Amino acid sequence: MHDQGDATPPDDPPASHRITLTERGPFVSPRCACGWYGPARRSRPLARAEAAAHLTDAHAA
Ligand SMILES: [Zn+2]
Repeated sequence: MHDQGDATPPDDPPASHRITLTERGPFVSPRCACGWYGPARRSRPLARAEAAAHLTDAHAA
């Protein structure tokens, strides 16, 4: 059966952004499920803030 048109993936799936903080020694780097990752920081709040900024960017784009 050919049933096209129903299985088109959405352009911007809302659940594709998921932040994970990866600790590496004294550094923490944020990563997103979409493939984005931020620079390693020695400050966890800073890494979180940058991850939050990425989420905001992703929503605004
Ligand atoms: Zn993302």
